[in-house]
Amino acid sequence: MKHLAVIDPKKCNPNKCHHECMKACPINRQDKQCIHLNEKGDLARIDEDLCIGCKLCIKACPFGAIHIVNLAEEKGQLVHQFGKNTFRLYNLPAPKEGFVVGLLGQNSVGKTTALRILFGDIKLNLGDFENVPKLKEVISKFRGTELQNFFEKFENKEIKVAYKSQQVDKIPMLFKGKVSDFLKNKRKEVEEIWNRKLKELSGGELQKIAIFATIERDADLYLFDEPSSYLDVKQRLELAKDIRKLAETKKVVVVEHDLATLDFLSDIIYIFYGDAGVFGVVSQNKSVRDGINQFLDGFLIQENIKIRPEEISFLVRRNKFALEESILEFPEIYHKFKNFDLKIEKGEILKGEVLGIFGENALGKTTFARILAGELKPKKGSFNKIRISHKPQYLSSDFKGTVREVLSLKNDIYSTEFRTKFIQPYDLEKLMEKKVDELSGGELQKIAIVLCLAQKADVYLLDEPSAYLDVETRIKLAKDLRTFVEKNNTSVLIIDHDLLLLDYVCDRTIVFEGIPGISGHARSPVPLREGINEFLKNLNITFRVDPRTGRPRANKIGSQKDKEQKKKKDFYCAA
Ligand code: SF4
Repeated sequence: MKHLAVIDPKKCNPNKCHHECMKACPINRQDKQCIHLNEKGDLARIDEDLCIGCKLCIKACPFGAIHIVNLAEEKGQLVHQFGKNTFRLYNLPAPKEGFVVGLLGQNSVGKTTALRILFGDIKLNLGDFENVPKLKEVISKFRGTELQNFFEKFENKEIKVAYKSQQVDKIPMLFKGKVSDFLKNKRKEVEEIWNRKLKELSGGELQKIAIFATIERDADLYLFDEPSSYLDVKQRLELAKDIRKLAETKKVVVVEHDLATLDFLSDIIYIFYGDAGVFGVVSQNKSVRDGINQFLDGFLIQENIKIRPEEISFLVRRNKFALEESILEFPEIYHKFKNFDLKIEKGEILKGEVLGIFGENALGKTTFARILAGELKPKKGSFNKIRISHKPQYLSSDFKGTVREVLSLKNDIYSTEFRTKFIQPYDLEKLMEKKVDELSGGELQKIAIVLCLAQKADVYLLDEPSAYLDVETRIKLAKDLRTFVEKNNTSVLIIDHDLLLLDYVCDRTIVFEGIPGISGHARSPVPLREGINEFLKNLNITFRVDPRTGRPRANKIGSQKDKEQKKKKDFYCAA
């Protein structure tokens, strides 16, 4: 049995505790040094050779700084460890010419680390962080595999790599100037924004220019970390086509949490699994369908490993509209900006429903949200005021304190109600002492959702809650939202582009149509399937349902299924 110990340096603070971990450790009590302080005395250290995996130190530490995982066996080739008592990664995905290689897995199990290793940003150390081995030694560990060839070329500088990183909202902080300074080629997709400053761009626009800047680089290997965030469904599928075209002659690796996009985009898939923040393992490569289905099942067949106690199923119970009382009825609404017209047909929000709002970007969805929230007065149409708690699309992380402090601003976080409604289901305990401005995108998203749902309101409005969340967290969020709505007899509105999330959680939808940036038209709410079908008809894209898992899958354009469904005008999920 091997015991992996990780100590979070942001949480461990030996000056503020009584060294409870060391006092609790049975090995330390035998006068051995299993847990001790580092040379500076500012961080605890655990000797994994002495550790017996009792985990008493985990319970004893007042700040939740320790994670210990007991492994029955090694998980493959240890390729990297950042330092003593830190995260480690086993195995690596192999880029393949002519293929889009998809990487799928929960957050914090090493997908971005793997990309950065392939990029050359992180130097492989095979777990030896004190005496980092030479690349030749590293290569010998991959003898006979595609990675041997890759790293040999890497050593000879015969491989050029282009990398699109995850957090595109940081681009304006790193690059000043205009889009024309950032991109070489004026593609038709960026004509409208060519002379705009980077700091004025929306998340979707930043994502597009980040992808185009990567594609236009002269490279042999292209790495894309979460390319679909902030893009609408149409843009996601168009981007998928661009990336697939690139892969005709190059190697491409993509990390993606939107299963529909990943499915449409990839040729083969590697699953990442492990214990978030402690260790990650890369599976063998799998066909796209098998890979995604095994991931959803929580069981990897070839590896004979269970990666999750329960399966993720898309065969969900849906609200039958037993509740017909409306929380809000709104008349036809009209609003106009300088060059943009927005018309919203009359409708209502029902008590106990999750209402999905979707359509292409720049059609006025967020404006509609702001009108409902009372932040914007429309030119025409007024309705009774209700209390709306709003999670905005873009998350600001400039709060200087900890998660505990930001949550305490408006909530009694020590109450039983807050604990059972939010801290436990959203697994917030381990984030409490983290600084808000140091949270990852996914962690910040969770906090923003909780801050929104914890307010007293009639309707909760979540703008792009899926951004930065991994598949498991998205599905868990969907389940939690349904429970939240049913237990509190309230309503949730979701603006999002992840069709699978919307399919999973929504009862009805409002579909936005129009010409992006010029005019938007929101239809009255309709049942979910009818809304998605209408939306996909406008995009001329069809989805079928995977009969075993209930998972909607995009049909390849021009395929037999695609043609049949279009003929029947069944754009979404023919059985
Ligand atoms: Fe104190 Fe916890 Fe660090 Fe141990 S791990 S020294 S108990 S803060």
